[in-house]
Amino acid sequence: MNCPFCNYPDSRVIDSRDVNDGVRRRRQCLSCSSRFTTYERLQPVNLFVIKKDRRREEFNKDKLLTGIRKACEKRPLPTGTVDKLADDIEAELDSQGKAEIPSRVIGDMVMERLKNLDYIAYIRFASVYRDFADITALKHEIDTLVSAPSHPTSQLSLLPDEDIGGMAKKRQKVRR
Ligand SMILES: [Zn+2]
Repeated sequence: MNCPFCNYPDSRVIDSRDVNDGVRRRRQCLSCSSRFTTYERLQPVNLFVIKKDRRREEFNKDKLLTGIRKACEKRPLPTGTVDKLADDIEAELDSQGKAEIPSRVIGDMVMERLKNLDYIAYIRFASVYRDFADITALKHEIDTLVSAPSHPTSQLSLLPDEDIGGMAKKRQKVRR
């Protein structure tokens, strides 16, 4: 790092401390004696997603967000749910520290979370992502959900009380 005042390429460290996810260093230029600060941070390893056709693509959180957002469109989910879900998944991927991950694994992580939040969003996401072979396979998945013992109370309890009325109305509409 060159001195920002005289551009001299060398400096000495006069103070160093850990901050958040990096190290902050106070430096003094060896030529003009000006002081400046550098901040050093570990560069996260880029994560690559291996797609179904075996192509590799750099992990893109915006793309993940778009997919989840589409599935959750007009669903009565609390504000911030989609972002939180994407943050969650990103954090889990980070903590695994892998360089590559199959797209299927990320898709499963999304589905697992959507299943606990909202069945309609889950089915929407699954129908795009899992590419159900035919309508029978899709119906089978829906039947499995509907007959699950947790249906539907565990989902309603995730919402604030005042939202439950509205959600019940929407549910009826969907059933028709
Ligand atoms: Zn200097």
